[in-house]
Amino acid sequence: MRAVSGKTRVCGIFGCPIGHSFSPAMHNVAFEHLGLDWVYVPYSVEPGSLPSAVAAVKSLNLAGVNVTVPHKQEAAGLMDNLSPAARLSGAVNTIVNSKGKLVGHNTDGEGFIQGLRESTGIIPNYGATIILGAGGAARAVAAALALNNMPEIFVSNRTSSKAAALAELINNNTDCKVSVLAWPECYRESNLKEKGKWQEILKRVSLVVQTTPLGMHPRENEEIPFPFNFLCPEHTVVDLVYNPSYTNFMEQSNKYGARVLNGIGMLLHQGAIAFKLWTGLEPPIEVMRKALHSEIARL
Ligand code: NAP
Repeated sequence: MRAVSGKTRVCGIFGCPIGHSFSPAMHNVAFEHLGLDWVYVPYSVEPGSLPSAVAAVKSLNLAGVNVTVPHKQEAAGLMDNLSPAARLSGAVNTIVNSKGKLVGHNTDGEGFIQGLRESTGIIPNYGATIILGAGGAARAVAAALALNNMPEIFVSNRTSSKAAALAELINNNTDCKVSVLAWPECYRESNLKEKGKWQEILKRVSLVVQTTPLGMHPRENEEIPFPFNFLCPEHTVVDLVYNPSYTNFMEQSNKYGARVLNGIGMLLHQGAIAFKLWTGLEPPIEVMRKALHSEIARL
């Protein structure tokens, strides 16, 4: 057990529930590897308690924290400053305490881009992307793609008004063209017009990003009504779910030749970017990756 003293720098994560987060293992092992007197603590912050928890980052002089479900959007309204990605996505997953001023970042989106580059070499500035879902993760991914010059995005969400709000946000603030696509349930119901639209759009798309929790443990068998048969080897399909590490959505997509990735790369890189923001040091990526894989293997 590492000794904690009055000089130990403290950071952590605010979320609810927080018991299953992999971030403490990933960051604490990185601090130890670099011989830093830092510690990363999971804090269970109930809905409604975020303002007082954020105030404590200043009063307790924490170095910074990550923010996770359900607080990312509320956190954006509690910062002294926001990074461009946090401002565009309207969500904060990393807070840096910069001499008493709280700066909100969103490293999820850039983590997604780095994970994609690392695994596929893709620089997502060509073709078009379909994003399934319009929640916090979808906002972060859409904002990062737009900031990385992706020309066109289609957002498909069960609640279409949320997809429309995301499209409006990105269209009003970037050069990326974002349109709403009906949730593929319409396709399953043999709606021929929608079926034709999905087929035509998938011909122009190079990347599909699944951002809903469908298929995540313990709902592994939950199906996403996606027209998998329109996929081909030119498509890269990323499922942000990482537990299980090979999801039903990945398996179905791979059957039609698409290259498939899970969300581990994004999880690793969002953490590595946050580590650098707090410490100013290069994160020991391989050590952090190993810690993540051990956590996943223990599930
Ligand atoms: P969120 O803000 O709650 O959004 C959830 C999204 O999923 C919404 O678009 C919601 O649609 C949709 N959805 C939920 N249940 C559904 C269902 N039964 N049928 C159809 N759509 C459904 O959550 P989030 O923060 O975006 O997180 C979403 C997922 O991304 C989680 O699995 C999370 O673990 C993962 N994630 C991974 C990483 C990573 O590093 N790999 C980072 C962040 C998030 P409605 O709008 O219709 O409710």
